Amino acid sequence: MALINENFLKLKAGYLFPEIARRVKAFTEAHPDQANRVIRCGIGDVTEPLPESCRKAMHEAIDELGTREHFRGYGPEQGYDFLRNAIAKRQFQDRGIEVSADEIFISDGSKCDTGNILDIFGNQNRIAITDPVYPVYVDTNVMAGNTGEADANGAFAGLLYLPCTPENGFVPAIPKEKVDLVYLCYPNNPTGATATKAQLQEWVDYALANDTTLLYDAAYEAYIQDPELPRSIFEIPGARRCAIEFRSFSKIAGFTGVRCAYIIIPKELEGRTTGGTRQLVHPLWSRRHSTKFNGASYPVQRGAAAIFTPQGEAEVTELIRHYMGNAALLRAACADVGLAVYGGENAPYVWVACPAGTDSWGMFDRMLTEANVVITPGSGFGAAGEGYFRISAFNSRANVEEVCRRIRQLLG
Ligand SMILES: *Cc1c(COP(=O)(O)O)cnc(C)c1O
Repeated sequence: MALINENFLKLKAGYLFPEIARRVKAFTEAHPDQANRVIRCGIGDVTEPLPESCRKAMHEAIDELGTREHFRGYGPEQGYDFLRNAIAKRQFQDRGIEVSADEIFISDGSKCDTGNILDIFGNQNRIAITDPVYPVYVDTNVMAGNTGEADANGAFAGLLYLPCTPENGFVPAIPKEKVDLVYLCYPNNPTGATATKAQLQEWVDYALANDTTLLYDAAYEAYIQDPELPRSIFEIPGARRCAIEFRSFSKIAGFTGVRCAYIIIPKELEGRTTGGTRQLVHPLWSRRHSTKFNGASYPVQRGAAAIFTPQGEAEVTELIRHYMGNAALLRAACADVGLAVYGGENAPYVWVACPAGTDSWGMFDRMLTEANVVITPGSGFGAAGEGYFRISAFNSRANVEEVCRRIRQLLG
């Protein structure tokens, strides 16, 4: 009998979203009359249709594959040049940010990228993770054997948790100790918070002083409305020597089901061996990616590249305007009933303090059973999320307006 990876046994049973699904299912089965009334603002999935420019490009790509002369088999593992060049130019160079096409690796998702990146790092690293946090960063470290067991609060031994609270604007204080890897995500899921250039500069300065690598998740960069806020870690001087950035087409263009993302590894970024030799990171990821991945699908990459055409850009702008309009309505409804509201101004998530005396799951159950609205309990993202809940702005306008009405009715 084969030995299993026992690290998996350390994982906590209820991954957040299955637990939410379980409670929603139990409720709708017990109350079939209310099942149709349930509005889901829980899971962070987009709702609006794929932009026409993306669909058109994918149709055309599929037709190309249907002819002998234009058929394509395996593509480059790192992604097609048409997409890497378009990303480098439109997302970075046109904004004065130094990133070249060969520093971009196309993949089928940031969830996989943020997990897979651990392949190229060793097991003895001191790892810091913000709290609350996107659960993938924690769980993939557990699977990789980078942690001990979880305590009663679900905190894993060996990880350094960096609390994010209203007091620090949900941007963690710089650690007093030296760490090797830090996960940062701005605009943030779940809190909807953003980090300023000055705040990110502090992190870059810390990273350069301590030989730390920053793993920067910019999945929501397109939601930034304030032109002063950085959209990329590479806007910060020095970041090319200490950071990896993760980006995705999921939230910018509704690709959560289509699947396309990318990672940026600057060519000068270094790690070290246990013997102390400095080693470039880019070739390691290149080797990893071309060994374990065979490239994102051609039609999908054509669809992704379409967001950099004038029509695609206009459609993406409209999508984001729609979701950010939803966020503004949700913010207003929660504020009107006297709740403390955070996020939602440069991110599609609104982070709300529960009414006094109610904890996160208590609020979840109350919203589900009394308002038939599914929210996400803050504690599911980490101990520091207790006492908060997340409302996603990914919905139709009609649903959001109805959710706002129900919040005012329930809590007003
Ligand atoms: C949605 C999301 C992603 C994107 O994941 P994909 O696998 O590309 O769909 C990445 N990071 C965070 C924090 C997210 O919320």
